Amino acid sequence: MTQYAFFKGTIVPIDQAKISIMTHAFNYGTGCFEGIRGYWNEDDRQLYVFRLLEHYQRLLQSAKILLMSPRYTAEELCATTVELLRREGFQSDAYIRPVAYKTNEQIGVKLHDLNDDLCIFATPYGRYVENEEGAHVGFSSWQRISDNNIPPRSKITGAYVNSALIKTEAMLNGYDEALVINERGHVCEGSAENIFILRGGKLITPPVYEDILEGITRNTVIELASKELGLETIERPISRTEFYVADAAFFCGTGVQVVNIAKVDHRVVGDGQLGPVVKALRDLYFDVVRGKVAKYKQWCTPVY
Ligand code: PMP
Repeated sequence: MTQYAFFKGTIVPIDQAKISIMTHAFNYGTGCFEGIRGYWNEDDRQLYVFRLLEHYQRLLQSAKILLMSPRYTAEELCATTVELLRREGFQSDAYIRPVAYKTNEQIGVKLHDLNDDLCIFATPYGRYVENEEGAHVGFSSWQRISDNNIPPRSKITGAYVNSALIKTEAMLNGYDEALVINERGHVCEGSAENIFILRGGKLITPPVYEDILEGITRNTVIELASKELGLETIERPISRTEFYVADAAFFCGTGVQVVNIAKVDHRVVGDGQLGPVVKALRDLYFDVVRGKVAKYKQWCTPVY
């Protein structure tokens, strides 16, 4: 249960962290946010927050795109988050949600000459997608937003209507998740995940100019695949039917973690089972995030 929030510069009980219905971000979606995971390690009796600094560095980039000037550095926000989590006292996996938002209580669609503030809350958290070892996904009839309409590089609150349309369509059609194409017709992401396919022993993922969020898990996977599995990742556009004929495919993201894709549009990917490469990456990822791999422990910020 969530008890506290960081709100207006201080940690307060969660029921005091309220904003007006006139708030600019509520009316126009002019906020940006992060999704960060904390992993409880029972052996260490410790909560480790994964790649905390990178998430705040990305939040500040998102804020810059929205012409915000947050009054905190990424390092200060890390310290505040640790303090908030200590107050919560979680002894379970947790999800941390910072939101920077335009605070003015006024009408008028714009980004300039407005004030902004930043709030953070955290909540206990579990899995994000059913069928983590064999998700069945379908291509969305919706298109991904692009850099020249709502930039996907920035985690903008209003932009998540696009993700919600994609996700809900997929779920109501009986899929576990969706794949989505960008305006150039290339496969770019899931509703809120980055994507990889495996073809000919190489990992392939869309490059950062393909209307994707520059995912922190994506970077993690590229690094772990290269350093631990000797697997190179090629960053290049991917077309829809490449998913049909791939040897394996998976989603990755803070929420989804690493989820194997077993079927795309009713076609079996590979042999439809969790194959050795995705299994190895999944296992490694779960060990790394939980602070069990000494070499990558610098990515895990201890709370207690
Ligand atoms: N793409 C989108 C649209 C997302 O919302 C997310 C989740 N933040 C991701 C990709 C994965 O990014 P990350 O690994 O940094 O969580």
